[in-house]
Amino acid sequence: MSEPLLRVTNLKKHFPVLGGLLSREVGRVHAVDGVSFSVHRGETLGLVGESGCGKSTTGRCILRLIEPTSGEVVFDGQDVTNAGRKELRAIRRNMQLVFQDPFASLNPRMTIGAILGEAFIIHKLAASAAERDDRVASLLVKVGLKAEHMRRYPHEFSGGQRQRVAIARALAVEPKLIVCDEPVSALDVSIQAQVLNLLEDLQSELNLTYLFVAHDLSVVEHISDRVAVMYLGRIVEIARASDLYRHPQHPYTQALLSAVPVPDPKVKRQRIRLQGDVPSPMNPPQGCHFHTRCPKAEPRCRETAPELKEGGGGHVVACHLA
Ligand code: SF4
Repeated sequence: MSEPLLRVTNLKKHFPVLGGLLSREVGRVHAVDGVSFSVHRGETLGLVGESGCGKSTTGRCILRLIEPTSGEVVFDGQDVTNAGRKELRAIRRNMQLVFQDPFASLNPRMTIGAILGEAFIIHKLAASAAERDDRVASLLVKVGLKAEHMRRYPHEFSGGQRQRVAIARALAVEPKLIVCDEPVSALDVSIQAQVLNLLEDLQSELNLTYLFVAHDLSVVEHISDRVAVMYLGRIVEIARASDLYRHPQHPYTQALLSAVPVPDPKVKRQRIRLQGDVPSPMNPPQGCHFHTRCPKAEPRCRETAPELKEGGGGHVVACHLA
């Protein structure tokens, strides 16, 4: 198989917690705790988990919007983790981020034309203002808006339209990878489907690669080729989407999937209710992080953290019972 476009190895991000009169470090939040995965060209990897599991921090560490504590990120053969400012700027042109909240990510004082035109100015991608306007117009059409929308302001658009603008801004620099951080979570369900369809169409047209971060397994089911499930800063399972949804192996994935509604009324799925809350990432449990809530936990789960093991067909699980 060819070299993946993105390879993440043992990525960690621990945030210091300061306290006391002298603001000394009194603890560490283990937001990302040794995450490894790869994403191939033209592929969509869904990264799923409950809020606070570290999935968005992982996305930001990959782009180095947050500095990782340790680990390695290699993008298109280039070491992102150790890149200097100039190299990082060139790498970031090929890795873009679409945020969850299009309301907050677009400057309300700028027209859509100015917002989209910024990327062409920063990266010197248009020789003149007229060329810049032409490219902005074609970007707007590409994401299902109209060329004349460039003269409007963000508040004149609906949530779905604003997310289309955010996608257009990411596309302006012709990236290879887009990290989509919960891009449809703030939208109504009917609009979610339209934005997901747009992302899929753009992927086939432009051969884009996506890392698609979401808290809801049902959102990533159709858009993802593979899905990685995260719990308390670690990946617990990675598999092809069809395999993961039909044969989830990790007890946490099984519980998450049991909560996803099935459209066919003849299919009955028994809901697995997890006991207790997600433990604090400041003080994660020893051994398997999931053992405090796992219905199948054994004594060894409290002592030893299970490694991610491949069980065939690229299905990888971190559980002593798998
Ligand atoms: Fe549950 Fe043990 Fe497997 Fe962890 S290792 S998921 S606690 S059975």
